[in-house]
Amino acid sequence: MKTCIRCKESKELTDFYKHKERKDGLQSICKTCANLASANWRKNNPESSLAITKKSQEKHKDETKLRVKVWNQENKEKLVGYQKKYRSNNKEKVSISEALYRATHKEEINNRNALARKKSKDKKLSQGVESKKVKTKRVSSGKSAAQSAKRRATKLNAVPSWLTKEQWDEINAVYRRAQMIEERTGIPQEVDHEIPLQGENVCGLHVPWNLLVFSVTGNRVKGNNFDPVAYTEYYLPMLKEIK
Ligand SMILES: [Zn+2]
Repeated sequence: MKTCIRCKESKELTDFYKHKERKDGLQSICKTCANLASANWRKNNPESSLAITKKSQEKHKDETKLRVKVWNQENKEKLVGYQKKYRSNNKEKVSISEALYRATHKEEINNRNALARKKSKDKKLSQGVESKKVKTKRVSSGKSAAQSAKRRATKLNAVPSWLTKEQWDEINAVYRRAQMIEERTGIPQEVDHEIPLQGENVCGLHVPWNLLVFSVTGNRVKGNNFDPVAYTEYYLPMLKEIK
């Protein structure tokens, strides 16, 4: 036990922060008093406080990035759930910020768009794959397309066990919708996953909110390198635009 020199209370040693230069290796005031003091200081010195926070964030930038990446890898289902939940709870906010982002980053979006297309083309070429033939999964029969997608996703462990009947209906409806578009327009359609099922960093799920209908001839920008930041800031607004 140790007595705090500020509140004079006798407390456990774990109630004190460490202090290397002191004899017992602990601060003389308890954690409660220390937290209070630092909160007071921050309140009275907002500018210095902000500068310190920024400096610390800058210092730990790489560490934080890595931690986020690892977390995302280990919490795929949660991530998809959070994104879905956030988007549905903040529809207006999301659409405003996406519109704003698109409006202020036109050139950047176009450049990244072109770069992503080129990268994906190069990758296919280097793999000796004839791009469209292999990538095209036509949906001329909505039902069988939905079934084979389910089989593929199951093989990749991308079908969550918690999907409800309603959600399966939703999934099937996406394939039916694609089929209808294809029949009406004569333009081959493709249903794919917004977050790829076999991504390098994050693997998406075979769930209704991860499905997208693409026109095969339209611009399709999606790689298997999922980057959460790029995803939120860049892919989402863009995918929305394509849809
Ligand atoms: Zn105290």
